[in-house]
Amino acid sequence: MNLHEYQGKELLSSFGVRIQRGIVAQNADEAVAAAEKLTEETGTGWHVIKAQVHAGGRGKGGGVKLAKNLEEVKSISDQIIGMDLVTPQTSAEGKRVHQVLVAEDVYYPGETETSEFYMSVLLNRANGRNMIMYSTEGGMDIETVAEETPHLIFTEEIDPASGLLGFQARKIAFNLGLSGAAFKDMTKFVSALYRAYVESDSSLFEINPVLKTSDNKIMAVDAKVTLDDNALYRHKDLAEMRDLREENQIEVEAGALGLNYVDLDGNVGCMVNGAGLAMATMDLIKQAGGEPANFLDVGGTADAARVEAAFKIILKDPAVKAILINIFGGIVRCDRVAQGVIDAYKNMGNIDVPIIVRLQGTNADIAKELIDNSGLDVMSATEFQEAADKVQTVLA
Ligand code: GDP
Ligand code: MN
Repeated sequence: MNLHEYQGKELLSSFGVRIQRGIVAQNADEAVAAAEKLTEETGTGWHVIKAQVHAGGRGKGGGVKLAKNLEEVKSISDQIIGMDLVTPQTSAEGKRVHQVLVAEDVYYPGETETSEFYMSVLLNRANGRNMIMYSTEGGMDIETVAEETPHLIFTEEIDPASGLLGFQARKIAFNLGLSGAAFKDMTKFVSALYRAYVESDSSLFEINPVLKTSDNKIMAVDAKVTLDDNALYRHKDLAEMRDLREENQIEVEAGALGLNYVDLDGNVGCMVNGAGLAMATMDLIKQAGGEPANFLDVGGTADAARVEAAFKIILKDPAVKAILINIFGGIVRCDRVAQGVIDAYKNMGNIDVPIIVRLQGTNADIAKELIDNSGLDVMSATEFQEAADKVQTVLA
């Protein structure tokens, strides 16, 4: 589960990580009130207005703007809220912005230059250890840095038995070229950041930029936080931060019905029982020249009600031009599934895409008979390849 920047910053702050302060706003009036409150608290007259969507690269897409007075806070917020923000990480249609973070301007001039660093915390899957990746080249496209100047990205691995040690935090501060107060503040920042990562059961922290202010404070200006879904049960407060508006709507509905559904780009809808068979089915569709429109595992109990629910979910995707049902009857009997398909088809009434059903296992022969004699626009197949070929034929 991903968090919005403002939620990620709240999480970091609760563990003592210094952040660029801000207040989230749903409309331009709230944004102005937020800016006034921040001015009272921090003395800043300038604010940054930041679109809150689950996508990076917002700055490049015009989703992060500096406001030098309250009129600008109002007009910029008005412009950003409701826009479809297109960034290098969104689709061409972009993501609708529902809220903005009004943040204090932290790039004020002072005794020293400001510097932008990159820092992330993640799991090194090769050896099962957490690692901190960091670079002096923050604020810009870290992918470009990784490609063209990979030696500018450092990695620090953490032994799970001892946790992050003091010397490691100092090494990071040193490699980032810091000294004096900024050095000391960076060691505190890194230690608090790592603790926040571990104790929140996160799977990714990406802070870009980490800023050294002109008065030598280290703070998180941005925060991308991904929480481990499997650990959410022990973080009720974080689980509540989920923003369903940011997620694929069909996936959200399928999840509520207990269906394992992942939306994909193709035109062949798939209904399968078991994740392994679903993967194999998608491979076969591709091999036969098609593209799966989704991954859908209906689970062990493929009864009429579930089949109907699955139909409805698949048909919500307008790209679907054919449906392939591939069910293995191990525990569930194929004739039951076949009857479920027929009942669902009749109940729904208005299915206008061809359906190919392949049922294998217990009572597969009876199931085939049921389908063939149903008088519906449903084709049966016994072999895997035969099913995929029939799909190609109806699409041609
Ligand atoms: P991203 O583009 O989605 O990664 O969003 P960021 O939160 O990283 O913001 C984009 C850029 O806005 C940053 O790299 C900064 O250069 C700039 N920015 C963020 N906060 C401030 C601020 O307080 N003042 C100024 N002048 N620029 C800021
Ligand atoms: Mn950023």
